[in-house]
Amino acid sequence: MRIKEISAKSVLHYHDRAFSTNWDINPYRGCAHKCIYCFAQYSHKYLDSNEFFDDLLVKTNVAEALDTDFSKRNWQGCPVNLCGVTDPYQPIEKQYKLMPRIIETFMCHKNPMVITTKSTLLLRDLDLLAELNKVAYVNIQISASVIDESIRSKIEPNASPTIERLAMLKEITNRGIDTGVLMMPIIPFLTDNIENLDAIFRFAKNNDARNIIPAIIHLRGETKKCFYEHIQNLFPDLLQKITPLFKGAYVDKSYAEKFQRNIMQLRKKYNFYNKMHRCSCEALHKEPQLNLFSR
Ligand code: SF4
Repeated sequence: MRIKEISAKSVLHYHDRAFSTNWDINPYRGCAHKCIYCFAQYSHKYLDSNEFFDDLLVKTNVAEALDTDFSKRNWQGCPVNLCGVTDPYQPIEKQYKLMPRIIETFMCHKNPMVITTKSTLLLRDLDLLAELNKVAYVNIQISASVIDESIRSKIEPNASPTIERLAMLKEITNRGIDTGVLMMPIIPFLTDNIENLDAIFRFAKNNDARNIIPAIIHLRGETKKCFYEHIQNLFPDLLQKITPLFKGAYVDKSYAEKFQRNIMQLRKKYNFYNKMHRCSCEALHKEPQLNLFSR
């Protein structure tokens, strides 16, 4: 792995998207979790590298740059997501400890924060996150799509085991912080079986998740080619079953409808209908008590 330290002038980035928040910070470029379905890996080509998983850039001044961004007169205190294209708690964070300084900066500015992660390293910062939650909204989404460790270790080799990730939910809610599960991306014929989906719902419910959001994998642009290569290497029998489902980027409609029926059955079984709303500035300003969940 090659690590390069860089300095950033500005770290807040706006994205026009319908889910979560519109603002991102990425303390790192590249991500060593090495998920075979990672859609972000092609963002590295803008950095003249094809090695998203092995060429890591570290924005060592991220907290200072963020302080500057938050101090600008036109900054409206919108919720900010960590991260858009990497995992903030990927292994290198153990060494660089950028997140505690970032959380402190959010605290100084009382700015709402959303985190999405596949790593139990987040627990290191739980005290700080609980402090931030006293002055600004915090929402932690645990990304988890497969319980079977023999599959998980192949498709997300450097992320934490799924059961350990899901066990974090209770610790997070015990600290009064909103948390939920992003059950994505589901891979047809590999992680879409009802036993796997049921187990994630059960863990989420038993560990006090506030929401669960399932989604089937999307295969846009170059991600498709790379994903198929990994499937060919890791699960060769699957490739011929998966490819007919993806004429374009999105899964076949009848497959998606069947998947949704399974999800509705599980929502009914576990009485678990909560969905996460977008953490937008408008929602926060409209509802200061911050109920961003609905049935
Ligand atoms: S954790 Fe996210 S950013 Fe990192 S490799 Fe996996 S999918 Fe990509």
